Amino acid sequence: MPDPKFTKPWHGVPREEIHWNPTVIEDACIGCGTCVTGCSRLVYRYDFERKKPVVVDPLNCMVGCTTCANTCPANAIEFPPLGSVLALEGRAEVRHAIEDDLLARHDILASPLAIPHPDRIIELRVEAIDPATQDVIRLTLAPVTAGECFCEFVPGQYLEVWQPGSAYLSRAYSIANAPHDGGRISLHLRRVEGGRFTAWAFADMRVGDVLQARGPLGDFTMRSAPDAPLLLIAGGTGLAPILALLEQQVELFPDRDMVLLWGMGRVADFYALDTLQSLAEKAPGLTIVLASTEPEETPPALERLAVTRGNVVEVLNRKDWLAQQRDIYAAGPTPMLRELTRFLDRQGIDRRTVHVDSFAV
Ligand code: SF4
Ligand code: SF4
Repeated sequence: MPDPKFTKPWHGVPREEIHWNPTVIEDACIGCGTCVTGCSRLVYRYDFERKKPVVVDPLNCMVGCTTCANTCPANAIEFPPLGSVLALEGRAEVRHAIEDDLLARHDILASPLAIPHPDRIIELRVEAIDPATQDVIRLTLAPVTAGECFCEFVPGQYLEVWQPGSAYLSRAYSIANAPHDGGRISLHLRRVEGGRFTAWAFADMRVGDVLQARGPLGDFTMRSAPDAPLLLIAGGTGLAPILALLEQQVELFPDRDMVLLWGMGRVADFYALDTLQSLAEKAPGLTIVLASTEPEETPPALERLAVTRGNVVEVLNRKDWLAQQRDIYAAGPTPMLRELTRFLDRQGIDRRTVHVDSFAV
């Protein structure tokens, strides 16, 4: 029988709606019983006649756990792709359920260890709020205290920011600019359906508000030799870290051979075109291609910003950029990055030349 202790909703999602349980490959299984006795949730029982494990209560299995597969000496246990679980974690209501659970069980879950904080936390003042589109804000933050800034960040890194006066957890955003004097930071905030932080940011955030921020974090940074041609790929507000890398490279090596491919669902959703146009004017070796699945809408009327039909993978498939041995940097929503990396694998692209922003905006 499924045990209610183990089959309760997973961060608000009914357990029955999540396909996550082991499957035993009978031909490979040697019947050692490690999975049966090693699982504390009684997912398995043992068939003493056939001397094989049987998955009797699959819903008892802890979502995301693969311990029995990892410890199986015959590699005889399989699980569904983890992508379906990661997709659930992308839902705002799931993130909120986790946040609420942490706050509700603060007494139990708060760490009793006084560990010195590894990152710097500083205060940043909202200096400008640019509603770039209906669903994207370009936010400029400036240090509250002169000299106390993230001036040393490396383009491609991100910050965690807190909504002022809220107990909610921090939200992570890529920095969308290269370092400048004064320590100003630009972030691109995409409206998240039902998202708490962006609900506040889009409705109530004001110039002068002070946000706490932690960082800079992450290692999605430029690793390529200065003479290596680059292919920069962005999806949605994944443009932010790509823009930071691009700004850095245009400043350092304006003649560098670079391609920026940026995908958006709708042409009307492209933003920051003024910034891209100005980078293109400074960098003769830069090609910018905007990819949209709805190119019948009015294309941006800016020189050197071509719009082409299709998503980024479809556009890549039509171009010869991959044959040019470019180092690739990609950032965007997780499903897009997953499709992109699968495509690059199929094309035989060496993974060592592909850099993917693991914190996918
Ligand atoms: S994955 Fe974990 S919870 Fe699920 S059956 Fe294996 S050991 Fe048990
Ligand atoms: S641990 Fe692997 S080999 Fe051992 S009984 Fe389970 S499935 Fe079979």
